[in-house]
Amino acid sequence: MKGNTSSVGIKEAPSGKGSYLKNLFRGIGTLLTGLKVTGREFFTPKVTEQYPENRKELKMFDRFRGTLTMPHDEQGNNRCIACGLCQSVCPNDTIHITTDTVTDPETGKNKRVLVRYEYDLGSCMFCQLCVNTCPHHAIAFDTAFEHAVFDRSKLVLTLNRPAKPAAGNSSADSDSRTEK
Ligand code: SF4
Ligand code: SF4
Repeated sequence: MKGNTSSVGIKEAPSGKGSYLKNLFRGIGTLLTGLKVTGREFFTPKVTEQYPENRKELKMFDRFRGTLTMPHDEQGNNRCIACGLCQSVCPNDTIHITTDTVTDPETGKNKRVLVRYEYDLGSCMFCQLCVNTCPHHAIAFDTAFEHAVFDRSKLVLTLNRPAKPAAGNSSADSDSRTEK
């Protein structure tokens, strides 16, 4: 067999002083390439979160879905009209609302009011269907993410603040669930 090609078509390794220097410079070149990447990463600002050391200053991005909340105004009122849409749309049966029917003393008409809004964080899959469905923007996700507890019952949260004394007559609504 002539030349530097074997019978199976594989090139033989070059030999001699020239090939040694060639391999040496090639090795130095690849070393410098690696060092260039290392140097660049050394000076690039770090994005890794040092959690939990940075717990105090750590801020999640606004779109993060941490815990379902029901915002209240300064007077302690929320926007929920107890329509039950969020409860109906939730695929995990995570939301349970208890409602009441009160008579408006001014109009004399009956209206439905929220008594208790229960949310089981342990079964929520953060799909946000409830938030997107709510016609009054009464619920929203905050960015709180530290949910570890030793007792799952502590994950069942009441989102509305205690209701003010209802005006007029009232009667229990069949949409209620058993109080804990
Ligand atoms: S985010 Fe999804 S799973 Fe969680 S309460 Fe809302 S609808 Fe239910
Ligand atoms: S939170 Fe919204 S969708 Fe759910 S019961 Fe209240 S008003 Fe209806």
